[in-house]
Amino acid sequence: MSYCRFQYQSVARYGLIENVRGVETITRTRATTPRSWSDFEGADRTDLPLSEGRLLSPVEPSKVVCIGRNYLEHAKELNHPIPTEPLIFLKPPSSVIATGDAIRRPNKLSQRVDYEGELGVVIGQRCYRLREAEDVRPYILGYTCVNDVTARDLQEKDGQWTRAKGFDTFCPVGPLVAENLDPWKGISVQTRVNGQLRQNGTTVDFLFPLDVLIHFISQVMTLEAGDLIATGTPVGVGPLQPGDSVEVAVEGVGTLRNPVLNLE
Ligand code: ZN
Repeated sequence: MSYCRFQYQSVARYGLIENVRGVETITRTRATTPRSWSDFEGADRTDLPLSEGRLLSPVEPSKVVCIGRNYLEHAKELNHPIPTEPLIFLKPPSSVIATGDAIRRPNKLSQRVDYEGELGVVIGQRCYRLREAEDVRPYILGYTCVNDVTARDLQEKDGQWTRAKGFDTFCPVGPLVAENLDPWKGISVQTRVNGQLRQNGTTVDFLFPLDVLIHFISQVMTLEAGDLIATGTPVGVGPLQPGDSVEVAVEGVGTLRNPVLNLE
């Protein structure tokens, strides 16, 4: 199953997507963040072809928690040390945009804006201080694509990453949230710029698997329903130029596609 958030006739709703007679169709809608897939069972019925709604970001997170250096080859390409425990940082909710929205390069402040294609994990149930042996799966609602857009020159210059990672439009998410993926077994994460393959990773290469990440984060902060975890990027990061089209494809989810423009 999968769900989206969409706008139709100026109203924004979450919508369950099902295949109806060969057409991807929004069959149930609700106003607020789903916490489980069964939340759609009592939701309002509809029969709207997915292509008729404008897709919005499928999450409205209170925070986006990102993992730095979760793939060995990526840590090496930036000459960063290999972490001995997860490295976490935040992107503000104001950085989130939908598929199709433009990434705006802050070209007066940064000369180097990079894509980072990542698997996104959407939290369904509030989660804080999980016990060591506790299963993380009940807290996960589903999976999506994230582009952790980064002003690489500001990341190096500032020493910490709030500015480099935090510009408006620097967190494309979508196009939808899918259930039933297994990152522990390996999900392909690919990034293309203007159709050319730049990153081709699999989550089986995570330095820290998803259960370790969620346990680690939950010792620090409460994860709320709708919060998003960006699980780190594979090797192959590189710059975006105005006029580019960047795509992040996660196996079993779909393709997140964003044009790139200059801010001014
Ligand atoms: Zn990243």
